[in-house]
Amino acid sequence: GKKQRIDKLLAHMGFGTRSEIRRIVKQGAVQVDGATVKDSGLQVDPEAAAITVEGRRVEYREYVYLMLNKPQGVVSATEDSRDRTVVDLLAAEYAHFEPFPVGRLDKDTEGLLLLTNDGKLAHNLLSPRKHVPKTYFAEVEGKVDAADAAAFEKGVELDDGYVTMPAKLVVLKEGDPAEGRVSKIELTIMEGKFHQVKRMFQAVGKKVVFLKRIAMGPLLLDEHLPPGSYRELTEEELELLR
Ligand code: URA
Repeated sequence: GKKQRIDKLLAHMGFGTRSEIRRIVKQGAVQVDGATVKDSGLQVDPEAAAITVEGRRVEYREYVYLMLNKPQGVVSATEDSRDRTVVDLLAAEYAHFEPFPVGRLDKDTEGLLLLTNDGKLAHNLLSPRKHVPKTYFAEVEGKVDAADAAAFEKGVELDDGYVTMPAKLVVLKEGDPAEGRVSKIELTIMEGKFHQVKRMFQAVGKKVVFLKRIAMGPLLLDEHLPPGSYRELTEEELELLR
């Protein structure tokens, strides 16, 4: 591996600013391979050295992979002048990796959003040529039925003239307009046009009133994650994405 300064490395790993790191080094709190570090400019190979801070082993890694259940009201961006972003939801120990959202969900859409600083993995998942399937749960005003499923299977023309690729619609519960009951559906699309799910329903004269992404490729939203919370991907999930 490549060597780098211990203060820079620990700062990058979220142990504090460079000056805070220099202070804890002075206090003798940092050890490398069992020896107390005296010089915060010490060059170490983070992949080979055993580094401890206050006796606790520091696990070095370059990338972080987080599964977020995006809540409504936050935007899928790293910065925004008006709204809270998905990155604002992260604790400092993750934020310092500077993860970014892989793809976008609308401000009012909930559900599965992967956040990572691994640009290559993000690129692979987002590549339009890969047709990574994305599955959404939605509540739709009125009655969604087999005719809509057939239309989505064929492809529908959006408001800008674009004709969608075949998509799979599963009606979980038919709504009843007379009783004001919404339809509950799952829709799997192989592409990701702007507002695609909402616009597909618009194309068949229906309105999405709640939208939540539940799967992206092989990755399924963890049902135990309430909106606004997140966790790291497991090794198994990461393997599935690679
Ligand atoms: N389709 C939409 O309309 N909105 C989303 O957030 C995702 C897919």
